[in-house]
Amino acid sequence: MLQTAASLSRLGTESAFEVLARAQALAAQGRDIINLGIGQPDFQTPAHVVQAGIAALRDGHHGYTPANGIPALREAVAADLQRRHGASVDPDCVVVVPGGKPTMFFAVLMFGEPGAEIMYPNPGFPIYESVIKYSGATPVPIALREDNDFAFDADTVLAQITPATRLIIINSPANPTGGVTPKAEIDKLVAGLEKHPHVALLSDEIYSQMLYGGREHVSLLNYPSMCERLIMLDGWSKTYAMTGWRLGYAVWPKALVPHVTRLCINDHSCVNASAQYAGLAALQGPQDAVAEMMAAFDQRRALIVQALNALPGVRCADAAGAFYAFPNIEGTGLTAKQAQDLFLNEANVATIAGTSFGAWGEGYVRFSYANSAANIERAVERIGKLLR
Ligand code: PLP
Repeated sequence: MLQTAASLSRLGTESAFEVLARAQALAAQGRDIINLGIGQPDFQTPAHVVQAGIAALRDGHHGYTPANGIPALREAVAADLQRRHGASVDPDCVVVVPGGKPTMFFAVLMFGEPGAEIMYPNPGFPIYESVIKYSGATPVPIALREDNDFAFDADTVLAQITPATRLIIINSPANPTGGVTPKAEIDKLVAGLEKHPHVALLSDEIYSQMLYGGREHVSLLNYPSMCERLIMLDGWSKTYAMTGWRLGYAVWPKALVPHVTRLCINDHSCVNASAQYAGLAALQGPQDAVAEMMAAFDQRRALIVQALNALPGVRCADAAGAFYAFPNIEGTGLTAKQAQDLFLNEANVATIAGTSFGAWGEGYVRFSYANSAANIERAVERIGKLLR
């Protein structure tokens, strides 16, 4: 009998990958599955970015790079953050990693251990709760509510801080709700954190370029008082439709850079060199593809929110960011998991139960609108038939 570590039993998962596998298996049996489950843009990476990756391979970039990323890429990230947020970032504080996830894993490993508390959004990206538990720390949920437009409430967050709190994770625009936290609430959180200098903040801003209705992203980088304890996570996956390239980064407090670099060296050495050159082209080249993708998402968002609201027993808030609709389905009499299974098995539509994002997701289902308008219409029509 193999003796594996007890910590393994505390590691959770991201159900979107399981639903994807099930949807693909059903499709392989000949079923016409519409996938509104997985959270990845249905667009191709812009052609000039792909070309830059190919050129890097042809030009002989086949070896290791510095563990924290090639200097030109870290400088380009700093320039991009200056352009988008007006923030002055030292390129030496930028650490390039394989995707958005490694930053959250490393941040939680750095602060989490038995006795420590880490706050995280619930419903939220499932990996937060999973890795907090894995680290042995106590996960403390920040409940996100529909009646607060799925924004976090700064007073609630601040009231949950104890001497054991080491890290607070926030995410705006948010997965799975599409919620965007207003600037006033972020101002209040930052002001309140001044009384708690022992608490670090991980701001997951992976959807920072995906806002609708004229909303503007508020980056935590814009709060100089936080710079010694802010980890700001962003990356290429969503903005440039590059989920499979595995490329992301974070801006770290200077004092933590040696620690995260050592974690990188222990874990993956460095990111694939050609992906880094592709990421450089994405930041430095034309941004039209980003604008085009966002225009398409905006149209689909209007379509899906309206269509979902027309379903019996379903109520859907107007998603403010990311590419997810998160309707309340309590009126159907189904639990979140029952709805997910019914929609997939009976309507051939893959969605994700709200409970896959934490206990506060009960009564909700996540629909990713990273699919064509025609497919979104067909999917909601099928679910409508089923519910009627
Ligand atoms: N953060 C959030 C909130 C996400 O929704 C995702 C992906 O769905 C990630 C991070 C991870 O992105 P990546 O695929 O780059 O690891």
